[in-house]
Amino acid sequence: MLDDFSLEQNIVYKTLINSVKNNKLSHAFLIETNGYPKAVDLALAFAKYILCPNNYSNNKNCGDCKQCGAITNNEFIELKIIDADGQWIKKSQLTDLQNEFSKKSVLGNKKVYIINQAEKLNASSSNSLLKFLEEPEEGIIAILIVENMYQLLSTIVSRCQILSLKNKTNLIGLSTLEKIAHYIYSSNEEITSYINSDDSRNKLDKVIEFIKYYEENHSNTIIYINKLWHDIFKEKDEIYNAFTIILLFYKDVLNIKLNKNIEIFNDYIEIMKNIENKNNLDSLTLKINVIMNLREKIKFNVNNNLLMDKLIIELEGCEMK
Ligand SMILES: [Zn+2]
Repeated sequence: MLDDFSLEQNIVYKTLINSVKNNKLSHAFLIETNGYPKAVDLALAFAKYILCPNNYSNNKNCGDCKQCGAITNNEFIELKIIDADGQWIKKSQLTDLQNEFSKKSVLGNKKVYIINQAEKLNASSSNSLLKFLEEPEEGIIAILIVENMYQLLSTIVSRCQILSLKNKTNLIGLSTLEKIAHYIYSSNEEITSYINSDDSRNKLDKVIEFIKYYEENHSNTIIYINKLWHDIFKEKDEIYNAFTIILLFYKDVLNIKLNKNIEIFNDYIEIMKNIENKNNLDSLTLKINVIMNLREKIKFNVNNNLLMDKLIIELEGCEMK
């Protein structure tokens, strides 16, 4: 229920409640999760809030209406959730949805579709979605869920109301290493052991060194990749964590570019400013995209040499022309 998020996601919660109360509901929302684990639950709770005639938001305010009953039993055809079919969200999933939603409503006057992991839209399904968003039909509401909005076409983003979720509360005042620990791990035990290990500090330095080296030498980085990377990061988990650090670092450089607050790398401002100067907005967002996509591949058994060659080549493709 939506009220469950009133504290953890207070800003987004208030925005959603007010948009319904003031009858100013957008036809498309983009939920940027920033790694917040309960984003799908929030999207579903919001959908229920929109679809229930009593605006269900807690256990007291709906007297068990038909809509809520149908949603709970997964029988509500005016609420559709689209997940990737394999690696991608396919064009046919979007056209099926459009056909389905062009029929007259059975219950109520609103229809909601949720696209989970919208970064898995490919070129053709992105285009179908874009057409859908460009000609919004009365009563149809889209909720897209994506970790970072820069993973989507800017033409899609510009048609959505953006709801950026808070991932971790209260990291203010912590050191960079401590903040990273909170991003990577969730149990207190793991967080503490990460913070107290010399190895973590050492690997964080190595990741920053790698980024610095790449930003100065670009594709030549490949020549020294063993020393810069392979000698240090060997296990799948540590490579994944190292990519998470690279990702968070570039996001913070982007924060500087956008005059936003630095989230994590307060201890590395000089290095970040230097890199910010070498990149424009496009190259930074493209790089973030490349790092996120490659990080996904680490979960499968990807060859480490190929992974790093690909990273450097693809980063090079993002450089300002
Ligand atoms: Zn209800």
